[in-house]
Amino acid sequence: MQCKSPLLICPKDVASAGKSLEIHLQDAFFADLEQEEIKGGDLKVVLSVKNTAPDYFDVKLSAEGSVVTLCDRCLEDLQLETKVEETLKVKDGEWAESDDPETLCTEANGKIDLSWSTYELIFTSLPGKKTHSIEECNTEAVKFIAGEI
Ligand SMILES: [Zn+2]
Repeated sequence: MQCKSPLLICPKDVASAGKSLEIHLQDAFFADLEQEEIKGGDLKVVLSVKNTAPDYFDVKLSAEGSVVTLCDRCLEDLQLETKVEETLKVKDGEWAESDDPETLCTEANGKIDLSWSTYELIFTSLPGKKTHSIEECNTEAVKFIAGEI
C-alpha cells in the first residue's frame, strides 16, 4: 500500500504555481484502489488547474499510456493503450445546493484526492468489449468456451 495517493493535490496551490503536474501511475496505483477491472498500468497523467472563480477551479486532467485488464474472451491479461482528457470542476470547501452536481469538493485542508476520478476516466475510455485480436487470444480457452456454450 502507498501511504499517500499520487493524485492528492491542493488545487489552490497548483493553480497559483501556474505549472502543470506530471504524475506517473503504475501498478501500485490500481492495486490500491478497491476495484478489479484494471489490474495494472503505466500511464502519464498531466494535471493543470485554473482558478475560474473564488474557490472554484477547473482541473484539466489528461492520461496517456497503457493499462492491463482481462480479455473478455480468454480471461488472460490484455494490454490496452489509452489516451483521455477531461476537465473536472473542483470547489475549495463544502458542496452547496447551488453547485453543479458534477462539482467535486476539497477536504477541510484544501486538498482533494483525484484517484477515483482519474481511475473512472481511464476506465470509461476503454472499449466496452475488451478482447485480444483473434490471433492473439488464447485459442485453447476460445475453443474451450466455444465447446461449452
Ligand atoms: Zn483473449
